Amino acid sequence: MFGRRSKRNSYWSVVRLVLFLLVFAASAGAEESPLIEIQKVNPRIQTDVRYATADNFMKEPLYSSARCFLRKEVAERLSRVQEDLERRGLGLKVFDGYRPLAVQKKMWARFPLEGFIANPAKGSNHNRGAAVDLTLVDGEGRELAMPSAYDEFSERSHRDYAGGTEEERRNRKALEEAMQKEGFKGISTEWWHFDDKDAKNYPVLDISFEDAAGH
Ligand SMILES: [Zn+2]
Repeated sequence: MFGRRSKRNSYWSVVRLVLFLLVFAASAGAEESPLIEIQKVNPRIQTDVRYATADNFMKEPLYSSARCFLRKEVAERLSRVQEDLERRGLGLKVFDGYRPLAVQKKMWARFPLEGFIANPAKGSNHNRGAAVDLTLVDGEGRELAMPSAYDEFSERSHRDYAGGTEEERRNRKALEEAMQKEGFKGISTEWWHFDDKDAKNYPVLDISFEDAAGH
């Protein structure tokens, strides 16, 4: 009698353990990524993710794939900027969105340039999935002329840089105005960088692009 009950008890313990593991595995697998790929929200937004290639200031690929992720609300705001620009025959080309903290540390270790690279101790809004680097393109997808190249660490990149051609300054202003309408804020040192108005509400992340994609 005693032996049978003990056997039955251990049988139920195993069943309980298996059930627990199944529920645990299911909930872990169903865990949603806090980020979404921009092109899933609006496939008409172009991307040119330089950090996935050696064509960047670090001269080496820093990302495992050429994908651009943002917080969902931020991507939706960006999509509205794209729709607004399309009414004027223009569009967006995104160079960078979410950046894992590990990559930020790597950049800072080589170029500790306040104003151009955020100190990973504080975290960049890119690490929060709430900042985006981008430019304007025309109806054929050609980049509009801007006062400096993307990621150029010089005063030509400053938002108030008075040099360059009138057309370049006009394009820089058009990008800023289009982004501001949806609540993005530019910074003084880089014409291509914009922070979401609620950027600081999001925590810094250090997940891989594979985890960001949810697989
Ligand atoms: Zn940026």
